[in-house]
Amino acid sequence: MEKRYDVIVVGGGHAGCEAALAASRRGAGTLLVTLKKEAIGYTSCNPSIGGVGKGQLVKEIDALGGEMAKAADASAIQFRMLNSSKGYAARSSRAQIDRRLYNFYMRECLAAREDLDIFEDEVKEVLVASGACEGVRTGGGHIFRAPNVVLTPGTFMNGVMHIGLEHFSGGRMGENASAGLSENLSSLGFRVGSLKTGTPARLDGRTIDFSVLERQAGDEHIIPFSFSTGGITLPQRPCYITRTNEETHRVIREGLDRSPLYTGKIRSTGVRYCPSIEDKVVKFPQRDSHVVFLEPEGLDTDEYYPNGISTSLPVDVQERMVRSIRGLENVKINKPAYGIEYDFVDPTHLFPTLETKTVRGLFMAGQINGTTGYEEAAALGLMAGINASAKVRGEEAVVLERSQAYTGVLIDDLVTKGTKEPYRMFTSRVEYRILVREDNADTRLAGIGRGLGLAAEDALERVLRKKERVEKEKKRLAAVMVPSEKASLAQLLKRPGISYDDIAEMEDKGTGLSYYEKVQLEVDIKYKGYIERELAKIKKFSDLEKIRIPAGFDYSGVPGLSNEIKEKLAFLRPRSLGQASRVSGVTPAAISILMIKLRANGGRRRKKG
Ligand SMILES: Cc1cc2nc3c(=O)[nH]c(=O)nc-3n(C[C@H](O)[C@H](O)[C@H](O)COP(=O)(O)OP(=O)(O)OC[C@H]3O[C@@H](n4cnc5c(N)ncnc54)[C@H](O)[C@@H]3O)c2cc1C
Repeated sequence: MEKRYDVIVVGGGHAGCEAALAASRRGAGTLLVTLKKEAIGYTSCNPSIGGVGKGQLVKEIDALGGEMAKAADASAIQFRMLNSSKGYAARSSRAQIDRRLYNFYMRECLAAREDLDIFEDEVKEVLVASGACEGVRTGGGHIFRAPNVVLTPGTFMNGVMHIGLEHFSGGRMGENASAGLSENLSSLGFRVGSLKTGTPARLDGRTIDFSVLERQAGDEHIIPFSFSTGGITLPQRPCYITRTNEETHRVIREGLDRSPLYTGKIRSTGVRYCPSIEDKVVKFPQRDSHVVFLEPEGLDTDEYYPNGISTSLPVDVQERMVRSIRGLENVKINKPAYGIEYDFVDPTHLFPTLETKTVRGLFMAGQINGTTGYEEAAALGLMAGINASAKVRGEEAVVLERSQAYTGVLIDDLVTKGTKEPYRMFTSRVEYRILVREDNADTRLAGIGRGLGLAAEDALERVLRKKERVEKEKKRLAAVMVPSEKASLAQLLKRPGISYDDIAEMEDKGTGLSYYEKVQLEVDIKYKGYIERELAKIKKFSDLEKIRIPAGFDYSGVPGLSNEIKEKLAFLRPRSLGQASRVSGVTPAAISILMIKLRANGGRRRKKG
């Protein structure tokens, strides 16, 4: 069998789903090849979407016309706005999801597209001729041809799972690893490394004593992920909180001689911000307790996910460990915890479009880029799908700026600096976070989503309506004086501790504004000074971003640059002087030299949108 497509997406995880949907929605003849059709959109680890820095990505995916936010809304069983007591820049949405429903939604969403073919098989090889992508060869002996291939194999490339000193091949529990692809990529000249992650055991909720645990309900007032979701229809469920204790830590310490992490069996670097419980106990010996969140796996299952105790210790140690925890004394483990090592490709092989520098038409997205997390994967997948289809359409690629989107920061960090450990998004990675917030993702990106033909027609109208209503209310607040305070309502709102809701209460009338409108209005008024300063910084910096470095620029011919800088830049091939300035070791003096050279070459060109 040999068939031709415009775009082939390899892997039906979070990156693959967004890539395949974006490419096919933009009219590219698209094929998704994945190991197991029924696992399309499956959540390998925790049953939740969003979180600090990740909620922002989900809202951006939505504004650009991706699917993750809608899938999360359709399967959410608890919503929480994290950091709600902090400033708006730090606020991030998170939802517990029904794992089965999320999986079902994504599968159906892809299956419903008549212009998207789905084929169950294992891709073994990317076919390349004269430095350009030609298609893929599968383990089943099929060849599919396409000038663009998006690789999203997740944790499956040479995946090895560890439980105690036992280890076995697999991409995640119950699914085969992908073998051969990693070696094929190495032979094409890609630097392949290995990373590690892990997951906790799944617990039988019927054997948990919830009566002694702290109950954590979701938000009363739910803000859905998608800007277009009207309301949440599923019943909402609580989580429960418990803690490890000295006995738990003793059991863990005793089991370390059979830990693959502490006996040197696992050598790859794991997720710094999501360490295993044995890592927490060893690295923070002064802490006598760690929090454990018991999260429901869904509406029609009794299974719980104990967030905070991922481990690769042997099953007998896992059992003693969980049973030492309050409320879990008689708990039954349904599925054991495990660690997994997998291969990834150094993301500095990628342009900011996510196309590789080594093979034309080959894109990579998701865990293969060295990231961890469903949201990071989905954002990367969406951008890879957009840019693969842009090539098909003969359009300019879309590269989001750091000042424009979390997605822009994510990609710029990866392709400019690379990563030695699984990269996770955080609000602290984003320089302009007072401007680039979760609540205004639609204002920032719906125009781009609409221009790409991905966001719905009414998305822009909604943004415009929001702007108009906020501006109108700002004018009104500035005009209404409060004689007792000798100040306008706008001046009152500027004061710390006073919210727009307080003003509305004072005026004794409903605000009439939506959640998003209220946030925009408060930010505009309260942070006017910060915003102006950030905009000025962006303007200053964007001058560097606008200075494009031509694709074949010869660094060897630039006098005054050290050999180290020449080599680094020749390898990384930054698109702009701004990107070059973020490469480690590239000095301001080197940037000045380059600027002079580029100007002399007439290399100054304006970048589009
Ligand atoms: C044990 C475990 C623990 C984790 N813990 C965390 C955590 O604590 N925090 C966190 O944020 N994230 C965690 N993750 C990671 C999270 O699951 C991933 O970041 C996310 O799923 C990556 O999405 P992806 O689309 O890149 O890949 P995946 O969701 O892994 O999907 C990959 C897809 O590609 C398919 N595939 C692979 N190879 C081939 C091939 N050769 N041919 C065809 N199809 C192929 C697979 O069948 C699968 O459908 C964990 C994952 C695992 C397995």
